[in-house]
Amino acid sequence: MKAMQMKDYGPASDLTLNNVNQPSINDDQILVEVSAAGVNPVDTYIRSGTNNYTTTFPHTPGSDGAGTIVQLGKNVTGFELGQRVYFTRNLTGSCAQFAACLPTHTFPLANALNFEEGACIGIPFTTAHRALFGRAKAQTGYKVLIHGATGAVGTACVQLALLNGMEVFASAGTPAGAELLRQLGVTHVIMHNEEGYLTPFQNLENGFDVIIEMLANHNLSEDLKALTLGGCVAIVGNRGTVEINPRDLMARDASVVGVALANVNPEALALIASSLLPHFESGELKPVIRKVYALNDLGQAHEDVLLPGALGNLVVKVKPGFH
Ligand code: NAP
Repeated sequence: MKAMQMKDYGPASDLTLNNVNQPSINDDQILVEVSAAGVNPVDTYIRSGTNNYTTTFPHTPGSDGAGTIVQLGKNVTGFELGQRVYFTRNLTGSCAQFAACLPTHTFPLANALNFEEGACIGIPFTTAHRALFGRAKAQTGYKVLIHGATGAVGTACVQLALLNGMEVFASAGTPAGAELLRQLGVTHVIMHNEEGYLTPFQNLENGFDVIIEMLANHNLSEDLKALTLGGCVAIVGNRGTVEINPRDLMARDASVVGVALANVNPEALALIASSLLPHFESGELKPVIRKVYALNDLGQAHEDVLLPGALGNLVVKVKPGFH
């Protein structure tokens, strides 16, 4: 089969398209013929060995994907051959024609979604759900800021928060990002590159109940001042260190919580997947796709996913012409 691979940690330009053996699965695994692979920032951290991520070589990138089940281990129950699924944290890499997957990390794909959209659920929507509900305990009526709302996780957070009747404020870095957020139904769009943009919210009356933060090293100190009494910042993204004044937390009985998708256990993953499914089926939730790349353009997708000016998800089409 064809697979994009790295021989060692390195730049995206080192990715090459190779002919390799199809993965074999054991009795507890699922083999999926991959139609599309999601490209997430973590794929680039693993490829380059940064942010404490390691891997083994040759390495085929890609945690997320969607496709069709072609083989089931004999201990696997609850799935069928030919079933359309999406998966995350697969065992062999989604940027390949076939991927070995775990039943705990493989989920039915809504009929309303195509495979490219399915490839954008695993990390982005699961993280968004975990951050909002599992960690920040956001509820209907809460005033919520999605701080960095234009990317893969942010657009998922926005949709989930609106669907659940929250008062959603969402930030963008570019006019195109702001327009995307308005198209998603956000009425309170703010620009995270403008001077003093959080100032109107930095008092107890106007502060947020919850802030979902995509770049904590940049924003955490100012976020803490923009919480209302009992407010919470949930940190999804961080690329460095930051100095805060703990008094900002004390003054508000506020809290900061971390979010790591890797810590979500299989039972919680299954609950999240089953709660999302009907909303994908009804069209209330729909992954936003910015661009679809050919498999051998994965290197470009790895470069692009780290650029400013996000507009949803980047996807690699692995099985051409197949929806
Ligand atoms: P993405 O699609 O590349 O989006 C990045 C987002 O960060 C964009 O909305 C971008 O907005 C925004 N941003 C840029 N500068 C910002 C600033 N100064 N303040 C606030 N936001 C800013 O990435 P993603 O997939 O959504 O992931 C977002 C972050 O979460 C990444 O760092 C990723 O590694 C991390 N993540 C963590 C977990 C976890 O388990 N904790 C899971 C998934 C992702 P503009 O481009 O419009 O400026």
